Order: sequence, then structure tokens, then C-alpha cells
Amino acid sequence: MATTTDYYATLGLDKGATDAEVKKAFRKLAQQWHPDVNTDPAAQARFKEINEAYQVLSDPERRQRYDLFGSAGVEGDPGMAGFGGFADIFDAFFGGAAGGAAGRRGRPSGGSDLRYDLRISFTEAVLGTEKEIEFPVLGRCETCAGSGAKPGTQAVACPQCNGRGEIRSVRQTMLGQMVNVTACPRCNGDGKIVDTPCETCRGDGRTERRRSIRVSIPAGIDEGHQIRLSNEGEVGPRGGPAGSLYVAVHVAPHPSLRRDGTELYHELEISIAQAALGTRVKVPTVEGEEEIEIRPGTQPGTELRLRGRGVPHLRRPGVRGDLHVFVKVVVPTKLTRAQREHLEAYAAEAGEPVNRDGSGSGLFERVRDALG
Ligand SMILES: [Zn+2]
Ligand SMILES: [Zn+2]
Repeated sequence: MATTTDYYATLGLDKGATDAEVKKAFRKLAQQWHPDVNTDPAAQARFKEINEAYQVLSDPERRQRYDLFGSAGVEGDPGMAGFGGFADIFDAFFGGAAGGAAGRRGRPSGGSDLRYDLRISFTEAVLGTEKEIEFPVLGRCETCAGSGAKPGTQAVACPQCNGRGEIRSVRQTMLGQMVNVTACPRCNGDGKIVDTPCETCRGDGRTERRRSIRVSIPAGIDEGHQIRLSNEGEVGPRGGPAGSLYVAVHVAPHPSLRRDGTELYHELEISIAQAALGTRVKVPTVEGEEEIEIRPGTQPGTELRLRGRGVPHLRRPGVRGDLHVFVKVVVPTKLTRAQREHLEAYAAEAGEPVNRDGSGSGLFERVRDALG
């Protein structure tokens, strides 16, 4: 039975912590526990815990899975093991800006990230869904298993850098020796070169194919959100690690519901008679139409709230917004003869002066008739 690590407690945060609070807490603890500055033998293990917690809580998609499923939700995530070096902490602060030659010495370079634009309906965004997406991607060449070398042959150490992947040059300056390290131009930092390239991929280690995967869209996702799927991007050349796939979500508008965060809004049109006498009417919700009661004497602009019928909070399970129904009382612009008589009778009863006998009596109507 797997136990769940409390990543919030590790960073001294509670569940509602904002991104900025997560970052701030991590920064403070990392400065305190980084093995480069803290010589306590326990520092390394503690720092690893802190870093792991940060990797989960700073990534919206991971954090959501963790909130839903605990540690099991993020287990086996690429990048969830082997933290602790300087490159990792730099990466955490600067979002991967540190992946230069120094961090990749002698390792094959990584594949590109991919972006997929996914269009979903308004209701799917509110309630969550699963989508099958298909896209072209550079995947590992099956003939050479990604090595780029013809089967039966092997990549050999690059003679220019002796397999180190980097070239060091030493210069004397006024300030002393300066060592300059650059990626080896012959092997592009791989440290290996392929003498007899694989015929399928011409030595690249990759071939283009179509891939289809199922993407789970969490309830409450909104226009412009991105879902990151680690390791689902392009694989790197010659066995290099894969990049990420970013699924950018686009939500179609709803014909009669408007959304702002977790709240939904609907403008409900009713007649003067319905507002005055009360009625039952249907309003749209993401779960279908629902009947609500309009009380007698309802005023224009009245807000009726359907609690819990809004949008689920993306990161707080069980929290869901409301559906706000705003009442618009529509004044009729065309009346039948009978309707006019009833309204005139109503006005007479209420002692209200009104225009009489047809549409031609008001100033506006007279001007309109003259122009028409
Ligand atoms: Zn190949
Ligand atoms: Zn080289």
C-alpha cells in the first residue's frame, strides 16, 4: 500500500496556497537546505523532499492530479526522481532555462516540445471530458531502436572530443586562466558519432509517424489553459529524451450561458405579466434545462442563484461555483387589439394616464408615421 506524502506540509503550506506562495516557500526552504550551503548530512534528503514537493505543486496539471489522487497521481512522472543538483534548482526557478551545454555534457540532446490546439465545447470544459487526439510526431526509429546506427554496428566515441561532448579551451588573461567550455561541434555534444547510419532514419534515430493518445480534460478547464503531458513530445535525436506535449485548450462559447471563472451567468427574459403574476420557467444549465420559480412581483434585474450549478474549481475538489440568473423584463413592442384593451383597462384601474386608441397617438409614433 503506497503512502501519500503531504507535499503541502513539506513546504509548510495549506491546500489553498497560491502559485506565488508555493514559489516563495520553496525558495526560502531551498536556500536553507540546499546541500551546497547546508553541510548537515540530512540536508540532501530534506532538500530532495522539498524539491519533489515543489515539482508537483508548481505544475498545475501535476498539482491537480496530486490533489485528486495523492502521491499515486504523480508517481512515475518523468522528472519526479533524481533531483538535487544545481541544474535542478535552477530549472525550478527559471522554468528550464538552464538546459544548456553544461547540463547536457555527453548526453544526447532532447526532443522538441509539441503544441496541440484542442477545441472543446462549453459543457465539456465545465464538466470535464476525455479526448482522443492524433498528431504527427518524430518517434524512436524502430530499425535502430533510436541509436541512429545501422543494426549490427554501434555509435563510436567522437574523436574530436574523445566522447566528452564538450571542448575546453584555456586562455590566459590579466585576471588569470579562463576556461571556456562549448558543446563539441562534430557530435553536437552527444559524445558519440555514428559511422554507419541506420538506413531507415539516416542516422537521426527518429522517424515521423502519427500518434494518437487519450487526453483527460479536467472539469473546470478554461479557454487558454494548457495541459502538459511530459514525455509525449518529440523524442530527441539518437535516443535523446522526449520533450513535452502541450495541449492548448480552446472552449467554444455557449449560446446562452456566459462564464467567469467558476461562475456562470444567464439572462432570463420574462414578460411583464410573468414578472407581475409569477410563473415557472426553464433555464439552461450545463446539465440540461432546469425549471425555476419566478415569484409574483419579480423586478427587472433580480438575481436568482442556482447554488453549485456553476463550474467546478480546477484545483479544489468539491468546490463548485453558482449559476446566476438575471431577470430581464421584456416590454412588448407590438400588441394585439385584445392585449391593448386589457392593458388600457389595467391602466384605467391603476389610475395611470396612457395613450389611447391605437399606435398613432404618441409623439414618437406620429413622427414615425410622417416619415414612413
Ligand atoms: Zn534508425
Ligand atoms: Zn564530439
